Amino acid sequence: MSETCFPERLRVSTGSAIVLGLLKGRLDAKPTTAYLLMCRNEKCSANCGFCPQAKDSKGRADRLSRVTWPTFSTEKVVTGIQSASKTGTIKRVCIQSLNYPEAFDDVLFLVTQIKSRIAVSISVSCKPLNKQKMEKWAEAGVNRVSIALDAATEDVFNDVKGRNIGGPYQWEKQHEALKEATDVFGKGSVSTHLIVGLGETEQELCQSIQWCIDSGVYPGLFAFTPISGTALESKSSPNLSSYRRVQLAHYLLTQRKTRLENMGFNDEGHIIEFGVSKEKVLEAIESGKPFLTSGCPGCNRPYYNERPSGPIYNYPRQMRQKEIEETKKVLGF
Ligand code: SF4
Repeated sequence: MSETCFPERLRVSTGSAIVLGLLKGRLDAKPTTAYLLMCRNEKCSANCGFCPQAKDSKGRADRLSRVTWPTFSTEKVVTGIQSASKTGTIKRVCIQSLNYPEAFDDVLFLVTQIKSRIAVSISVSCKPLNKQKMEKWAEAGVNRVSIALDAATEDVFNDVKGRNIGGPYQWEKQHEALKEATDVFGKGSVSTHLIVGLGETEQELCQSIQWCIDSGVYPGLFAFTPISGTALESKSSPNLSSYRRVQLAHYLLTQRKTRLENMGFNDEGHIIEFGVSKEKVLEAIESGKPFLTSGCPGCNRPYYNERPSGPIYNYPRQMRQKEIEETKKVLGF
């Protein structure tokens, strides 16, 4: 039996639903962004190997990454966003639009509803769209878009979301769409997602991060998370020390403290030089900032990639001193 879905109902991540007052529960770390997922009775038209929403996935439709997304009435969700943004509990709304024929219009409708009542920043994570469509979203009040590269290299991309897995996405087009999005939203107001642990090397990730920076796109880092029912369900999460090195490189690159050409890699593509002094590397580690969730401003995605029991790949809050000390050890400092 099909469920009532959008426009009447929307999916909301469980953590966001608690913050919006739609569910009762305790949270170790509260999301600072309200994460919404379009509610449909069919799966996504794309087929990303890591995603439970993919058309061939046998994963649960109420899942995206590790997170569950129950449905609520759209009216209640918008009212919850109104109160939570008034008190400053949420700083942004993120709409995960999925890939389906009416996605553009559905997002436009939802953004218009939210913006008619609330002055809140809105990000939309979407498939590549043409400029006219992006302009329409921008006029309606979308502040940022995120078009996911997910993979750091063309080969990995083709295997996990492109032609080799029966997906509609093309490496070149995804890059072109990101550049076009910066023409509409401005450099620095477009994001992408990069998943660590899909088979690429650390060097390839750094190359992709540098491409993003040079193109005015901010890359958010994700740790690959195996989800049952997906094509990649039996693949492992990335090694923690490798993830920490990439986070550190991502921080130094995005803060423009280093560049790819100043960095060093060994034969396996592991980072062996960050291109700044050891003191500066240590200073960065001790600030804890490289290991916080990266993405749009105000996005902390608690426990998106990790079990609360750890290891915590992306910290949704300031790190504790003990966690910084552990991270130093993991990085060999
Ligand atoms: S970085 Fe965060 S807010 Fe931005 S699109 Fe990704 S999940 Fe949404």
